[in-house]
Amino acid sequence: MSPSKKKKTVADAVDRQWTARVGPALLERLAEGAAVGSPREPLVVEVPFTGETLGSVPLGTPDDVVVAVGVARAAQKDWVAVPVNERAAILLRFHDLVIANAHEILDVIQLEGGKSRRNAFEEVLDAAITARYYAHVSASLLRPKLRQGALPLLTTTREYRRPKGVVAVISPWNYPFMLSIGDAIAALVAGNAVVIKPDSQTPFSVLWAAQVFAEAGLPKGVLQIVPGSGAVLGPALIDNADYLMFTGSTATGRLIAQQAAGRLIDYSMELGGKNPAIVLDDAPLGRRAAGTTLGISTVDGIAFSITSGSGQVCVSCERLYVQSGIYDTFVPALAEALKTLPIGPSLGWDVDVGSLSSTAQLEKVSAHVNDAVAKGAKVLAGGKPRPDLGPYFFEPTLLEGVTEEMDLCRAETFGPVCAVYRFDDVDEAIARVNDSEYGLNASVWSKDVGRAKQIAARIEAGTVGINDAYQATWASASPMGGFKQSGVGRRHGAPGLLRFTEAQTVAVERVVPISRLPFLDNERYAQVMSLAIKALRYIPGIK
Ligand code: NAP
Repeated sequence: MSPSKKKKTVADAVDRQWTARVGPALLERLAEGAAVGSPREPLVVEVPFTGETLGSVPLGTPDDVVVAVGVARAAQKDWVAVPVNERAAILLRFHDLVIANAHEILDVIQLEGGKSRRNAFEEVLDAAITARYYAHVSASLLRPKLRQGALPLLTTTREYRRPKGVVAVISPWNYPFMLSIGDAIAALVAGNAVVIKPDSQTPFSVLWAAQVFAEAGLPKGVLQIVPGSGAVLGPALIDNADYLMFTGSTATGRLIAQQAAGRLIDYSMELGGKNPAIVLDDAPLGRRAAGTTLGISTVDGIAFSITSGSGQVCVSCERLYVQSGIYDTFVPALAEALKTLPIGPSLGWDVDVGSLSSTAQLEKVSAHVNDAVAKGAKVLAGGKPRPDLGPYFFEPTLLEGVTEEMDLCRAETFGPVCAVYRFDDVDEAIARVNDSEYGLNASVWSKDVGRAKQIAARIEAGTVGINDAYQATWASASPMGGFKQSGVGRRHGAPGLLRFTEAQTVAVERVVPISRLPFLDNERYAQVMSLAIKALRYIPGIK
């Protein structure tokens, strides 16, 4: 079959599945939800499975950002007055609607992102878990806290959490739903209004989230989406918002940090990674084939970690360190697993590995692999594009013999490509793991969990999974983010909410002013205070 005929067949099949389920009417309705003026140029969105056009949204301008932030600022004044429990109830309704309508957002995520349904479902889970978690903990996190006063009895002090105001979220294309709305959920429940600039490749997933939030009862204007170019809209957002949440590349993060410094607005950033995994001699190998075994399979876990989202996951594994005793068993088994994972364009659950997202991604991934192979790396699995499946498909790839001269040795590939290295000594493996400018995620695989925990403590990464690639850390209520060049601040957990607030301390002085006690001159005041301070030194819990 000729490639063009094959492509048409794939396109037809995907289109048939899509229109039978939801249809283009949904996209048109979603596009109408963009917070932009009219008329505007169309921002055309592609289906990576086929290279064909999915639909378009109006392309926002810097003026649209100014208007959106103004509307958000006005809406936030009422939103902050809504009791936290009522804000949390909207989050729970959003949670229920996402689960009930998962089929719809799964189609949208897959069609504009090109990932497998299994990986798209990770986004649904994350949005629901995040909404439920913050719905349940926000009242407690945001409640005013009684703090120890300057002097016992003479003052009372409370810490309040005030919203920042308008939070701007700039998000990437790789997990477009969860990496936009997950952060927005925390910002909203803290009493902020939010303006999201989604990636130009994937605006529909975020527009869907905004539509569902409106159905869940979120007041108008509190959450707005302005699609458009980051380079064009980014500066307008930074010039007008009160806080910035950015997920994307380290290079863009640096640029944004410089701009934010001009206004001294605070930000958090989740950036790139070159994530390692350490497989120890006693790692539980397990068997392939989901559902046939209980227990941990390092082969399955690492294969998933390399191929999830076609490797376009900030936390996916690109460096694999395997101890000598298990290397010759484990590495061929992993190569075999990668070769046999179902790959292709499908809106069904039958496929594990989807497509890369764009020409740019295909070119970068191909260039990294070709450069490595040209310089002597050995291909153990994959290594090639798969134009027979769709324009941007690339085989899950395992490379051996990767050296410092090769681009993929240190730079983030952001594709289903992993370099495997042999090691004898654990100290040496840890040193190699930490020898990176990045520090986002890592994993350690061993039957001896105590030993793996000791290794985790020595790894410079914001999250470390033990016998898990990234899902156990990511989906937990514990903070997630990067060491070194992988980020600033944390999402998830308590810090993931509190970063969207300002701490405000309100202290009340009672009876007498503590700066000048009655009947005491300055010298006597100093003597009395010194005695008091000395005495307090021996009262546990008093600062
Ligand atoms: P990117 O180029 O930095 O783009 C990410 C977002 O930033 C997009 O919305 C983009 O808009 C916008 N943008 C681009 N230039 C900008 C500028 N000058 N000012 C303001 N915004 C700007 O990132 P990418 O390469 O597409 O995404 C992949 C990267 O994200 C990888 O490095 C990956 O590791 C990282 N990532 C990190 C995490 C994490 O949690 N740590 C999660 C996911 C991805 P347009 O593209 O629409 O112009």
